[in-house]
Amino acid sequence: MMRLPWFQYRAPQSVAEAARILAGEGDAMLIAGGTDLLPNMKRRQMAPKMLVSLSSIDALKRNGSVYGAGLTLTQVVNSNAPKALRQAAHQVATVHLRNMGTLGGNLCLDTRCNYYNQNYEWRKAIDFCLKKDGDVCWVATASKRCVAASSTDCAPALLALGARVHLVSSSGEREIGLEELYNNDGMDYLKRRPDEILTEVLIPPSLASTYWKLRRRGAFDFPVLGVAAAASPQGVRIALGAVASRPFLVHKANDFLEGKELTDEVIDEAAKLVASRAKPMDNADLDLYWRKDVAVELARYALRELRGDDMRETRLRIARQLV
Ligand SMILES: Cc1cc2nc3c(=O)[nH]c(=O)nc-3n(C[C@H](O)[C@H](O)[C@H](O)COP(=O)(O)OP(=O)(O)OC[C@H]3O[C@@H](n4cnc5c(N)ncnc54)[C@H](O)[C@@H]3O)c2cc1C
Repeated sequence: MMRLPWFQYRAPQSVAEAARILAGEGDAMLIAGGTDLLPNMKRRQMAPKMLVSLSSIDALKRNGSVYGAGLTLTQVVNSNAPKALRQAAHQVATVHLRNMGTLGGNLCLDTRCNYYNQNYEWRKAIDFCLKKDGDVCWVATASKRCVAASSTDCAPALLALGARVHLVSSSGEREIGLEELYNNDGMDYLKRRPDEILTEVLIPPSLASTYWKLRRRGAFDFPVLGVAAAASPQGVRIALGAVASRPFLVHKANDFLEGKELTDEVIDEAAKLVASRAKPMDNADLDLYWRKDVAVELARYALRELRGDDMRETRLRIARQLV
């Protein structure tokens, strides 16, 4: 059995109190649902001296045009959130984990890699890896940068939707576009400062949106590719997940789509542009060249669904084939 390391536990009742504790402790981490953090701690990927729980803070559970970071993924699924976000949240893990896991935790999810998401003894046996305790990235040995993959489902959906996030610390508050929250670096993957709490997600109005996910098991698995698309009065936006150390907007495809009707030809061309930006690494499930090929297909499906095509059969076929 893998045991948790020792830690102190605090459960503040307000964001201000949580921010104060976080600022005063050198080695503290936030915990929301704990569905990612606690397994990571058991594997000794992190061992903070203090956990600051967000679960008693009612202000983080707002649900409306602003979505509190403390909403569980189940609450997001059952909310009035745009379809892409509900589809993404619905495809995270299993019902038990969605009942515990939160929107904020999903957006701040640690990056993943076959050489990192292993227990301590496994990692020690290969002399550890760059992301934790080692000097070499075992995926790309010449790389100075960790290439662990962003594996959050909700982030690409929210990027396509043009979401912004609110961050609070004891020294102030700021609101940034979600795209600005992420670094393309498997170790330093968030631009959030360690003393900042992600409190809210703000989603502007959209006309339609959709999220497509590739994973081995239709019932339960991290994404190895996520494609989100949303249409708003400002145009169509496509975002990719799980094919880099950050989720990102595909600006090349989005610029190409500007002012264009979604004809079959336009969709095909945009899908190729999307796939050209997908750079999966050999550090997750399923063959990386195949995953890149699938990016064309999922982008095509996403844009067709955005256009109004009925894609239910295609979704079912994907879910059944990859069991
Ligand atoms: C078996 C399994 C399968 C999974 N499958 C998927 C999947 O398919 N897709 C997917 O996206 N995820 C998956 N997950 C990961 C995880 O369950 C979800 O991402 C979940 O939403 C994480 O939320 P949490 O509240 O549990 O985060 P926690 O584990 O509590 O925290 C995760 C990280 O976010 C930080 N954090 C949490 N809340 C905040 C906040 N408000 N402000 C700043 N930092 C914060 C924590 O400090 C920590 O670093 C899976 C996990 C497991 C164990």
